[in-house]
Amino acid sequence: MSQLPNCPQCGSEYTYEDRGLFVCPECGHEWSDAQSAEQESGLVVKDANGNLLQDGDSVTVIKDLKVKGASGPIKQGTKVKNIRLVEGDHNIDCKIDGFGAMSLKSEFVKKN
Ligand SMILES: [Zn+2]
Repeated sequence: MSQLPNCPQCGSEYTYEDRGLFVCPECGHEWSDAQSAEQESGLVVKDANGNLLQDGDSVTVIKDLKVKGASGPIKQGTKVKNIRLVEGDHNIDCKIDGFGAMSLKSEFVKKN
């Protein structure tokens, strides 16, 4: 077990961890350690520019994407809100107007 960090708010060393958050009992400050959260999920998803993506991000599609069974492609420039990162080849779950629930490859989007 690694040493818990001191509270960034008040400097208290009596911090503890609770469901992925660090909690300070002295001032009530709660914060997350982005690094450990990343290790937990094991998911590192980057957009076309190499920016890290996170759950809830909004992205823009950077090229027309053919969709099996759809009448047309997802057009370049389509905005996608509230993405969810998943494991696999198509590592972004999202909903796109007119298409419904979709899986995209992160290399074909950029963070807004
Ligand atoms: Zn504190």
